[in-house]
Amino acid sequence: MASMITERPGSGKAALSIDVEDWFHAANLGVAREAWEQCELRVERNTMRMLEILDACNARATFFVLGWVAEKCPQLVRAIAAAGHEVASHGYGHVFVYSLRPSEFRSDVLRSKQYLEDLTGKPVRGYRAPSFTITEWAIPILQDLGFDYDSSVVPSVAHDRYGRLDGMDAGRPVVLLRDGFYEVCISCIRLGKRGIPWGGGGYFRLVPYLLWLWGVRRILGSGMPYIFYIHPWEIDAGQPRVTGIKATHRFRHRINLQRCEGRFAALVDAFEWIPICDLIDGCESGAARRSCGDHRADDRGEYASDADPDGQQMRILL
Ligand SMILES: [Zn+2]
Repeated sequence: MASMITERPGSGKAALSIDVEDWFHAANLGVAREAWEQCELRVERNTMRMLEILDACNARATFFVLGWVAEKCPQLVRAIAAAGHEVASHGYGHVFVYSLRPSEFRSDVLRSKQYLEDLTGKPVRGYRAPSFTITEWAIPILQDLGFDYDSSVVPSVAHDRYGRLDGMDAGRPVVLLRDGFYEVCISCIRLGKRGIPWGGGGYFRLVPYLLWLWGVRRILGSGMPYIFYIHPWEIDAGQPRVTGIKATHRFRHRINLQRCEGRFAALVDAFEWIPICDLIDGCESGAARRSCGDHRADDRGEYASDADPDGQQMRILL
């Protein structure tokens, strides 16, 4: 990945992430946990198709694998790791973090982390909360369990479901939350201290592709890294339809599914992609520190409020 180091640190650092869950895990569909066993398992073929797309472009990515899926498809996890991608954790049961007690969260995450590590023989360094429902108390638990980073914040306009962490800013996508522990935000196009989500999901399928490409280049051209996410079910237009759900939820889930595989393949081909672990490892060195957003210590003045109110923990923004 030496080719990623450029004269302008940050340009060209595009991190790709895939949340490995099946269509019936998506929160918008509201399929009850008890019904999962009866649902058609489609995650394996969809993820294998994504691996083919990545392989064709020599792209590497981070796969946040749901523990429930890993137990059903252990060979899929091994295939992801064998292809040179980063295997990270999406938790076990896809329960919103803020609806769990801390002890329940710890058990859920540990179960997935240990199982994924058993399958791959490598440490799992990253975590992504189901439906981006991260919350402050979860961070020290993640670090205590041995994670190096969380990637569960979309520093954007309000969303009815997303969780949040204090001090996140669309212009600072990689944040050293605690000594040795990073938050890696999903990319947004900046609008003041908030942003329009520009990192995947329904937005990726809704926005015209060329406009999306323009936005990605704008983010990279501003000296920031770009962080994209997608799910295997988003390239699966043939997945079962769930009836009786709200129209807004159906829209978010199904919009342009039929076009998504082509768009995804084009996006993978358009940039050099690295896994998130490479992005944060690049932040460890001084030169690359600037590549994570060009935010140095002397930039911190206007963000003094990013210190925790109780003064216990100072957030260092990269
Ligand atoms: Zn998920």
